[in-house]
Amino acid sequence: MKALVGARLIDGTGASPVDGATVLIDQQGRIEVVGAGEGIPIPDGASVIPATGMTLLPGLIDCHDHLSMHGYGLEGRWGLDDPQSVRSIRTARIIEDTLLTGYTTVRDGGWLDAGFKQAVEQGLIAGPRLIVATSPISPTGGLADRRSPSWHRPPDAGDPAMPSGVANGVDQVRERVRAMVRVGADVIKFATTGGASSWTGHGPKDIEFGQDEVRALVREAHSLGKRAMCHALGGPGLRMAVEAGADSIEHGTYLDEDPELLKLMADHGTFFVPTLTVYVFHLERGTPHGRSRAGDLKPHHVTSIQMALEAGVKVVAGTDAGGWVHGNNAQELELLVAAGMTPMQALQAATGWAAECLGIEKETGTVQPGKTADLVVIDGDPLRDITLLQDRSRIKLVMKGGEAVVDRLSGHP
Ligand SMILES: [Zn+2]
Repeated sequence: MKALVGARLIDGTGASPVDGATVLIDQQGRIEVVGAGEGIPIPDGASVIPATGMTLLPGLIDCHDHLSMHGYGLEGRWGLDDPQSVRSIRTARIIEDTLLTGYTTVRDGGWLDAGFKQAVEQGLIAGPRLIVATSPISPTGGLADRRSPSWHRPPDAGDPAMPSGVANGVDQVRERVRAMVRVGADVIKFATTGGASSWTGHGPKDIEFGQDEVRALVREAHSLGKRAMCHALGGPGLRMAVEAGADSIEHGTYLDEDPELLKLMADHGTFFVPTLTVYVFHLERGTPHGRSRAGDLKPHHVTSIQMALEAGVKVVAGTDAGGWVHGNNAQELELLVAAGMTPMQALQAATGWAAECLGIEKETGTVQPGKTADLVVIDGDPLRDITLLQDRSRIKLVMKGGEAVVDRLSGHP
C-alpha cells in the first residue's frame, strides 16, 4: 500500500480541486481511496509519499503524437541517415523520456510499429501506455503515400511490421484495415484531406478518398473493435469523415466553416483533437507552402476550437509534433488555453476527456477509486500557470500503474 498525502488534487473530471488530499494505492497499483486527508486513516505499513504544497494530477495523455518521427525531410522520413537500429534506439529513448515528463499514455498517430508497445509492456523499456495506429491509410497521393516530391519510391521494401497504408477502392481499404489490425494497430488512422505538410498541389481542403471508401473504412474498423481517427482539415473531406462516423477528427482546422459538422460531432460524441502544437512549427520552420498554409488556417483553427466547445464537442489534447520536437507535449495545453479554454478544461483535455477519446476511461485519465494509479505531482498550481507543466524541474513525481518512475518526494533518489 502507498499513500500520497497532502497535495492539492485536481482529479481530471473537471471537479473543483481538493486541498490536502490523500490517495491510497493498493498492491496491484490501483487507486483504492481518494479524498480530503482528515477523513482517511493511513493504514499501518503503508509507504507514505509526502506532497504537501504540490498539485496532484492524473497522468497526462497525448492523443496524437508520432514517437518514431525524426524530422520531415526525406532523410528522416525514409530513414536514410542512420541504420534502423540507431533509429529504433532513438525512438525508445524518446518513449522513455516522454514518460518522465508526466505523460503516462500516448496515442501514436502513425508510423510507430506495435513492437514498441510490446517492449514497454514487457518491461524492456520504460514508457507510457501506448496506443498505436501503425501505418495510416490513404489513397495514392495521400498521407500514407510516402513517395518523394519527384515521385521516387522509398528506397526499399521497408519493415513488414509497417505495411503500406496506400489503398484505393472499397476492397483495398477494407483489406488494409485488416492488415493494420493484424500487425497490432489499436486504432485505425486514416486521412480524408491534405495537410500543411502535404505536397504543393494538395492542400488542407483537398480531398483524399471517396465517400464509399471512407464509410467502408470506418465500418471495417468498428467491426474489428477499433476506433478510427481521421486526419481531416477542411472542405468536403472533413464532412465525409464526420458523416462516416470517424471517432475523432484530428486537426479539424476549418471546422468553423461548416458549423453543422460541429453539431453532428456533438450528437455522435466525436472528439476533436486540434493539435495546435504542430502548426506552430509548420508556421515557423515549415516548407514555404507549409508556412503559408499554417498561417492561413491559424485563425480558423482557434475559432473552430471555440465553436466546438460551445457546441458541446469534447476537445482533447494532441500535439502531432513528433516530426519537429519530442518531450514537450504539455505545450499543447498552453496553446489550448491561449485558444480560449480555461486551464481546467485544458487539463481535462489531457486527462479525463483524453481517456474517453482513447476508450480507456475505465482504466485511467482521472484520479478515482478503481482506476490504475497513473499520477503526476507538480510543484505549483497549473490552474494559475499552465506552462508549469513544461518545466521538468517542477515534475516531482510520475507514477504509472502504481510504480514511481520519477520520485523527488520520498526523500530517496
Ligand atoms: Zn499526425
